[in-house]
Amino acid sequence: MAWYDGMRILYQVPGSLQHLYHGVVWRGNKRKRCVYLTFDDGPIPEVTPQLLDILKQEGVHATFFMVGQKAEEYPEIKERVKREGHAIGNHTYNHLKGILYSKNDYIANVMKADRLLDGTRLFRPPYGRMGWRQKHALRQLGFKICLWDVLTHDYDKNYSAERMVAIIKRYTRNGSIINFHDSVKSNERMLEAVKQTITWLKEEGYSIDVLSDM
Ligand SMILES: [Zn+2]
Repeated sequence: MAWYDGMRILYQVPGSLQHLYHGVVWRGNKRKRCVYLTFDDGPIPEVTPQLLDILKQEGVHATFFMVGQKAEEYPEIKERVKREGHAIGNHTYNHLKGILYSKNDYIANVMKADRLLDGTRLFRPPYGRMGWRQKHALRQLGFKICLWDVLTHDYDKNYSAERMVAIIKRYTRNGSIINFHDSVKSNERMLEAVKQTITWLKEEGYSIDVLSDM
């Protein structure tokens, strides 16, 4: 038995749990051999430009859930992401933990980021969690709330690139939304895992799509 057997829930959100949360996208088209690469918490100069270089070299587009404050600090990186054909999503202004804030404060924070993220209607809550009132309000504002199907744990230094790629190979299926971070914590391990993942996805015949086209 491989190390990752029996630990599925750590890496792939079970269908039963996905059904509990109405109005949230966990996974794309199950009938299409496609996946979505997503990157949270950027843009930052230490990681995002290198990641963009890899994606460009591979001819692949991804979805970046950006923190408004970072986009404000590094507008040239945000512009490069857009210019190179990637989708951007809102990840709040300063990475708020939804359960600690009132609905109104949370929405105000998301809308502050909205102005910096050019009105994208893709949203991912930091930590993958928020209250149902917050979720309802965001949906009323037209946001498509996107979580993930496959979690790489790239923010954890105990996960090498090889370990992440093994998780991805085991749990990716049609329509999977794969979660990475363009953050200092992920850095080199994530970049290496992304390269290997793209090679594998291409070999397996997956197309790599962006969430705004879903
Ligand atoms: Zn985040």
